[in-house]
Amino acid sequence: MKSPSFSYVRPSQLSEVLSLLQAQGDRVRLLAGGQTLLTTLNMRLSEPELLMDLQSVPDLKGITLTDQHLRIGAMVTHDEVAQSALVAQHAPLLTDAAPHIAHQAIRNLGTFGGSIAYGDPAAEWPACLLALNGVVVAVSARGTRRIAAADFFTGLYSTALQVDELIVACEIPTVSAQLWTSFQELARRHGDYAVVGLAAAARAHSTALQEVRLAWIGAGDQPLRSTATEQVLESAPLSEPLIAKAIACLKTELAPRADMTHSIPAKLHLSAVLLQRALNGLLASTSISQMSRNL
Ligand SMILES: Cc1cc2nc3c(=O)[nH]c(=O)nc-3n(C[C@H](O)[C@H](O)[C@H](O)COP(=O)(O)OP(=O)(O)OC[C@H]3O[C@@H](n4cnc5c(N)ncnc54)[C@H](O)[C@@H]3O)c2cc1C
Repeated sequence: MKSPSFSYVRPSQLSEVLSLLQAQGDRVRLLAGGQTLLTTLNMRLSEPELLMDLQSVPDLKGITLTDQHLRIGAMVTHDEVAQSALVAQHAPLLTDAAPHIAHQAIRNLGTFGGSIAYGDPAAEWPACLLALNGVVVAVSARGTRRIAAADFFTGLYSTALQVDELIVACEIPTVSAQLWTSFQELARRHGDYAVVGLAAAARAHSTALQEVRLAWIGAGDQPLRSTATEQVLESAPLSEPLIAKAIACLKTELAPRADMTHSIPAKLHLSAVLLQRALNGLLASTSISQMSRNL
């Protein structure tokens, strides 16, 4: 199919974007890398009057580091995240997750902000943002809102973003030496969307884990955490029996939907496999060996 006709504009200033959004509201559609939007236009799932291309707005680009967080501009591509030394040092979960996103050609064009705005429950960045306690920076002519990832994703492909707002960046607290992260994913073929995936983070303190955050991909209508399982993992020093207890809890806590290829029991089983892999890796790692020496 062909897309409907629409007007096209490519502003070079953020102020211009905000004025147009304020004036035209939901008649406008923002174009980032086009890796999702162009398909939805061609299928006429989206019929905007005006397509506003964000490629020339400098405020939306670049990855920078402040005292407290890593700031990833909305128009930073998946590949730029994958190649960034700053990201590898301060948010290595993203570096681990990036190769799982689609194929190289899509990673060259698709953007961090576009993925967050689209809010696909099977996408990698939304779950990573949730696991890392990240914040979405949304701007409109009315001002700036900083929205915690936990409040940003509100349902299937829906977010807390208002019609006159755009994402300018995401902020991610920088990791400390004590922060452990792990990215795990199962897809039918490399480059396919995940059947199920896990973005995990925790602080290793003395003999136990704290602030455990298990963010799941493809396990519900939106990226979501398994908080009961997290609590199990915080209740005692990490050990094989504790991992078994956490997995038993996960199987009662997650409620994934079946998809075209996987039943609910299959998805639950695969989720348990991913959690086991992540935690086995942690148990075997140096930090935990150190922890057990302190027991
Ligand atoms: C074959 C294929 C396989 C894929 N596989 C995966 C995968 O495995 N994992 C994965 O995560 N993704 C996958 N994708 C999607 C890809 O990662 C896209 O890059 C991602 O969905 C975002 O698209 P985009 O940045 O090109 O944004 P666009 O397609 O341009 O926009 C997407 C949506 O976000 C809105 N938007 C964009 N930028 C902003 C902003 N700054 N503020 C507010 N709203 C904005 C747009 O208006 C639109 O509604 C795949 C895509 C294809 C075509």
